[in-house]
This record gives sequence, C-alpha cells and structure tokens, in this order.
Amino acid sequence: EVKRNGKNGFQFYSSQFDEHVMEKIELEGALRKAVERNELLVHYQPQISIQNEQVIGVEALLRWIHPEKGLIPPGTFIPIAEETGMIGEIGAWVLREACRQMQQWQSRYGWNVPVSVNLSTQQFHQENLVGSIKGILEETGLKPEYLEIEITESMMMDAIRSSQILRELTELGIRISMDDFGTGYSSLSYLKMFPIQKLKIDRSFIKDITRNEDDRAIVATIIAMAHNLKMDVIAEGVETKEQLDFLMNNGCDDIQGYYFSKPLSSSDVESKYLTIMDELSKEASS
Ligand code: C2E
Ligand code: MG
Ligand code: MG
Ligand code: MG
Repeated sequence: EVKRNGKNGFQFYSSQFDEHVMEKIELEGALRKAVERNELLVHYQPQISIQNEQVIGVEALLRWIHPEKGLIPPGTFIPIAEETGMIGEIGAWVLREACRQMQQWQSRYGWNVPVSVNLSTQQFHQENLVGSIKGILEETGLKPEYLEIEITESMMMDAIRSSQILRELTELGIRISMDDFGTGYSSLSYLKMFPIQKLKIDRSFIKDITRNEDDRAIVATIIAMAHNLKMDVIAEGVETKEQLDFLMNNGCDDIQGYYFSKPLSSSDVESKYLTIMDELSKEASS
C-alpha cells in the first residue's frame, strides 16, 4: 500500500506501520501530560575553548524522563511535539528554564558564560518569537548577551523573513549560532545575509576525521571559511584526543563532545564546575 506522505512524496506501509502509529499516539498522549507532571528537564553540555580549556558556554539539551519508559531522547519526541503543535509550549518552557538556570548560576557563582538553546523549525517561524524571547529574558533577569540561539540551515528557507527575525534577535543582544553546519541543503549565501556569530560543525564530519581524507578537507575548509567571515567555529561530537588534535592544528576555536563532557544535569554542573567558585567566594568574603 502506498500513501502520500506530506508534500514530499510517498511512503510504503509495512507491517510495522500500525505499531509505529500506535507508539506515536501513545507518546503524544504521554507528552501532553509530561509538561504538567514535570517530567521534562534540561541537561547542559559544556563547550570548551581549545586554546585555554576553559568552559566558554553550555548547550541546553532537553530530556524527558518517562515514569515507565525511562529516558526518551529528544530525537524521538521533538518531532512529535512539532507535528502536534506542542513544540510551542515545550520550546518556551526550555527557553525559560535555561535562562532561569543560567541567571541563577551567574548570581550565585558569578559564572558568566552564555547558555545556548536549540530552536525548532516551527518555533522559529511562530508569531512573535522575538517578543516571547524578550519576555522570557525580562522574566528571568538573564541579560541577552548570555543567551545564544541555535538555528539550522533548513529553517532559513524563507530568506527574507528569516533574516528579519535574526536581525531582531541580534538587535536585542542575543547571539546566533548555526547548528549542524554542513548537513542542510541551503545556499551558503545566507552566511553573508544573516547575522550569525558561530558555526557548529556537525558531528558527522568529526566522527571519522582521523581516517577520512574528505572529512578532514571539509572540516579544515569550514574552519577557514568561518574565520574569513569573522565567525567563531565549534566542533560537535568530539570524542577523542586525535580528533581534538586535528581541530587544534586547524585552528578550530571550541569543542563540544564526550571527550570533555557528556550533557550533565544541573546538579552535576554545579558539583563539577561551580563548587570551587562558591567556596572561593565564601573564603573571600570571610
Ligand atoms: P544538537 O543540537 O546537535 O545537540 C547535540 C547532540 O549531540 C546532543 O544529543 C548531544 O548529547 C550529542 N552529543 C554531544 N557530544 C557528543 C559526542 O561526543 N558523541 C555523540 N555520539 N553525541 C554527542 P541529544 O541531547 O540527544 O539531542 C539531539 C538533538 O535534539 C539536538 O541536536 C537538537 O537538534 C535536538 N534538541 C535537543 N534539545 C532540544 C530543545 O530543547 N529544543 C529543540 N528544538 N531541539 C532540541
Ligand atoms: Mg544544538
Ligand atoms: Mg548540532
Ligand atoms: Mg545534531
């Protein structure tokens, strides 16, 4: 059996299809309750400067702890949230939570690094995105320069509208980074049209960087291009010393990946990175 799949083409139904639909409907119902039941939480993955090994920022990554199924990865439930329109509410929740947390870390520990938050395609195109982000910043007291928004190439299809939104966000003082760079289909010309401060090289290019000549060439070229366009560049998914060495030798600014740290819960961030500062400030004030 063949059925139209959205506007892009056709999908073949298999015997697994019904199972899939059931699972999706089940997840959708559970996701509606997840927000009310406080089953969502945000983890934070440190981003590290290659030059001085300091944490220069953290990426907020959404987690869903289902009471029976356990941890459900964002790749599974964010598409459902997008399809059902729940992403508006969930996305606003993530933004508010990440801003609240970073503001608290700044005021308690003097930890002045930005938090970066992923936007979904629907969220990016929602009415009054800029106004709602502005509201969240005012509500949480986080200064705009400590919020970074991660967008992807596929969101930039409507170039005129996208550049308008990005310009308004930038005028507020928010930074913009291009996530999963190199995996989208859009034209490179947006790099000069849009106010983007940072490119995040997708993990798929980093994975085999020590073995694959093509990946090495692509990554070296992205780094050089970013710098020529006066943008910073961060490599995602760095897991080994060999990958880090290649990136260092090619002038990459920052890394994010398991080699340095997995995404951490708020309390793990505090015990790993913030206790010492807290103790130091106690000592200093006693
Ligand atoms: P992303 O924004 O590209 O985030 C990076 C993903 O790579 C995260 O997966 C992170 O855990 C994973 N990662 C980081 N370092 C390594 C590494 O060294 N090795 C490997 N194998 N993986 C690494 P995660 O948390 O499962 O998130 C997957 C995707 O879900 C994100 O990709 C992002 O597109 C989306 N996502 C996560 N949180 C949110 C959110 O709050 N809103 C929206 N709209 N999307 C989100
Ligand atoms: Mg991201
Ligand atoms: Mg990414
Ligand atoms: Mg990715």
